Amino acid sequence: MSVLALKPRLFGLQAAPFRPAEGWRMLLRSGLCGGAGSSERPEGGVRLRFGPSPTGFLHLGGLRTALYNYIFAKKHGGTFILRIEDTDQSRLVPGAAESIEDALEWAGIPPDESPHRGGSYGPYKQSERLDLYLKATETLVMRNAAYYCFCSPQRLEMLKKEALRMRQTPKYDNRCRHLSQTQIEEQLAQGCSHVVRFRLEEDAAPFEDLVYGLNRLDPASVEGDPVILKADGFPTYHLANVVDDHHMKISHVLRGTEWLTSTAKHLLMYKAFGWDPPAFAHLPLLLNKDGSKLSKRQGDLFIQNFSRNGVLPEALLDIVTNCGSGFSGNRPGRILEELVGEFDVSKITTHSALLDLDKLPEFNRIHLLRRIECVNSRQQLVTELQTLVEKEFGDKLVDSEALCADYVERVLLHRKGHISRLQELVSPNYSYLWFRPVVSREQMLNLSTEGEKICSVVVQFFQTWSNGSVSPTELNNELRVLQAQFTSTKYNDMMKFLRLALSGKQQGPSVAEMMLALGPKEVCQRLQHAVIH
Ligand code: GLU
Repeated sequence: MSVLALKPRLFGLQAAPFRPAEGWRMLLRSGLCGGAGSSERPEGGVRLRFGPSPTGFLHLGGLRTALYNYIFAKKHGGTFILRIEDTDQSRLVPGAAESIEDALEWAGIPPDESPHRGGSYGPYKQSERLDLYLKATETLVMRNAAYYCFCSPQRLEMLKKEALRMRQTPKYDNRCRHLSQTQIEEQLAQGCSHVVRFRLEEDAAPFEDLVYGLNRLDPASVEGDPVILKADGFPTYHLANVVDDHHMKISHVLRGTEWLTSTAKHLLMYKAFGWDPPAFAHLPLLLNKDGSKLSKRQGDLFIQNFSRNGVLPEALLDIVTNCGSGFSGNRPGRILEELVGEFDVSKITTHSALLDLDKLPEFNRIHLLRRIECVNSRQQLVTELQTLVEKEFGDKLVDSEALCADYVERVLLHRKGHISRLQELVSPNYSYLWFRPVVSREQMLNLSTEGEKICSVVVQFFQTWSNGSVSPTELNNELRVLQAQFTSTKYNDMMKFLRLALSGKQQGPSVAEMMLALGPKEVCQRLQHAVIH
């Protein structure tokens, strides 16, 4: 029997909240037991869905919900489903549904079943499941759990105004509950516009949320009977959600906390249908670090913008889970496999998650470093950087060698850990990597009267130098030894001279690091060039 259907009555006294037995409760909190109340995995296994409305592109808040659903499903060897909830046709944004699915793919959390991928429980767009909602509505009407409502928009508006005038919360007065069968048939026969409303039962049973614990919400006391089927034949969110979660065999509903108050209403619908409900877990709010609301209108929160700006998907997943809960501890640098391994639904707390996007560059730096260190992902970065360089510098390039894969790879390996995004490597600070600096001979010789000697000594060193795998510190030590040969140029001045000759700049990575990235051949070319013209 469903926990949610159980409501012990104490001889006419107020119903006591249902508290599952401790063993059962633990299973529930571990997330391995569906709301169906059995101690086994629910039939069909663990199945979770992400149900965005395609009213815009995927933003960070949506990504977090999708991610927790994905992690929960994968943790328990289950299925992650994308269901597009497009029943509000007036708010559809063309292309949004497709872009949401693309964003999940990009983030590395692709759905197992979706509009694009298909699956055994499709279609995965609510607008393509209208028959199902219609049948479900008929069932409820037949059971007297739903009824036709012919109230005009004007009447509803008047009710609202009246309530506001009396300083009350506006709610439908359930007038059409009391229509007789004849009245209903007459109005239907006349083709009167109508909706279908769900009859809210009073004294809804308390329910257990995997995150928020026991909830005692009684929708009938705060709202009128909700519309489940609109005049245009489309269902409202509440009906479609319940019908689809049932037919898609969803075992756990994991969604934003803004839906917690609707859950009691959904449970009344499950009861009216005679269906076992899934288990529910609501995620706390995701807020800006100052506690303000994370608005969809903050354009920079769209996933596409992050990807366009060189943010790595794993850095986004990492920052979003680090500010939230559900893991034993938080530390930056976790990748998806680790998140799945460490996830525990009973560790999700109810306090809001504060997102500090100022830390994103640091998260990205850590994950970029990780990608550069992995041979397979490094090759992809090499290609990306080649494209960026070509686009940014085109014909200014030193020669085609600047674009060759070996060189680009070496640059990556030398700058790893120092950069947060690949784009930084094509910024003016790093332009010296791709084309030779323009510095006059006078400028060079102003830095040291021994400029020519410095160049020839260092060139000679590199021409006979075969050890390309030294560290910057080791190379630096060699440079210190060379410096001893110059009588009127101090070590620091020699470094300033070399830096200007190699990069045309007075600041940047250490000279040894620059030399190692450029490689001996290019270093020699630049030093010779610096004092010749
Ligand atoms: N369509 C709802 C939304 O966009 C989904 C709510 C739910 O997961 O039940 O938030």
